[in-house]
Amino acid sequence: MTTFEREWESLFTQSGSLGVLGLLGYDRANAASLPPAIEAILDKASVGETISREEALLLIDMKNEYLPYLLLAASKLRERGKGRTLTYSKNVFVPLTQLCRNHCGYCTFKYEPGEGQLFMTPEQVVDSARVGAKLGCTELLFVTGDKPELKYPIYREALNKLGYDTTADYLIAMGEVGLNENIFPHTNLGLATSEELAAFRVTNPSMGLMLENISPRLLQKGQAHYRCPDKVPKQRMKTMERAGELRIPWTSGILVGIGETWEERIDSFFAIKELNSEYGHIQEIIIQNFSPKEGIIMENYPPPEFTEMLKLVAISRLIFGDRMNIQIPPNLNPETYPLFIYSGVNDLGGVSPVTIDYVNPEAPWPELERMEKLVSEAGFTLRERLPVYPEFINEEFIDPGLLPKVRAFVDAEGYMPLQESENGRH
Ligand code: SF4
Repeated sequence: MTTFEREWESLFTQSGSLGVLGLLGYDRANAASLPPAIEAILDKASVGETISREEALLLIDMKNEYLPYLLLAASKLRERGKGRTLTYSKNVFVPLTQLCRNHCGYCTFKYEPGEGQLFMTPEQVVDSARVGAKLGCTELLFVTGDKPELKYPIYREALNKLGYDTTADYLIAMGEVGLNENIFPHTNLGLATSEELAAFRVTNPSMGLMLENISPRLLQKGQAHYRCPDKVPKQRMKTMERAGELRIPWTSGILVGIGETWEERIDSFFAIKELNSEYGHIQEIIIQNFSPKEGIIMENYPPPEFTEMLKLVAISRLIFGDRMNIQIPPNLNPETYPLFIYSGVNDLGGVSPVTIDYVNPEAPWPELERMEKLVSEAGFTLRERLPVYPEFINEEFIDPGLLPKVRAFVDAEGYMPLQESENGRH
């Protein structure tokens, strides 16, 4: 029996992993032996050596019967860098505008003028920030469509009347408004200039832009990013590079199941990894699964399979190594997300009170209670973090005017103090 096989044996004796392996249909008595080439890759990965593109591609091709070994290697690597702590954040979602100049095949967010308000008013933003802070949220998650001012004159004029030329200008101002309410803006703007990013940095301890995929092929007719000028991968990489130059902690990641190949997924990971090797500012990788909905261009596309996601997440851990924060969004995997603990994730994303009944504020976090229970059953500790991860809370990565405020929220380890994260912060 090889070392890996012995460890896999022990994996079966843990209740949570027994659950995941049982669910995948693995039979302890008939465990498959690992081919030496795969074992060599997993062996080196689980002691902290990252893997090459070629090795990652080899793992893609391996049979599903070897998946438990891959999960074990990813779990070991996560524990090397992150111990048995899993994190989450409490956020309030602020869809500042849902107009957008792109036409992503999977979009469920965008609408046209006349189908809803052009943008949230400053008063609505303040309300969201206040309610969120009152309910104990620390993240004001700004999400918008991309550059609607370049497509819709009616939007541009309304924005001008409010005193702003661009969505970015408006977002920058609303970041200040949010921060005044004692909650931290985390903005997902889309493509941005260095000047814009520098202005965001004053109030945003972290920001984000999903790479989605590095392949320009997805811009072609019939593909997910056809007629999407903001989805040109080179441009998205450029925005993230600017963020690196400006030392902005950055969340990125990929979308899975939008018509990309396995090779393109791996190349996307390596593109982000290369950027991070140069700037060290990528704080988190989100691996987000496509989920079909009625009425979208891709409504008949199949979503990625569960085992495909497990495999991809585990390979991402092996590519990024033990220190990277890797997240699977729980809201997109409501039933299966605890099982991703066994594929090497260490973050379970944002939990939001927006779905709660505001009339019953004494029980504002039903999802959180369930998450805490599942995580503890798996033998892990759940800690609340800010939108910015603990390792980035320092002079290098946070604006000097903002840093004291960020530090005032967290304990010595950079997490929300346990009592406050349980009771909410006011
Ligand atoms: S960028 Fe794409 S996904 Fe985002 S709002 Fe625009 S069309 Fe929708």
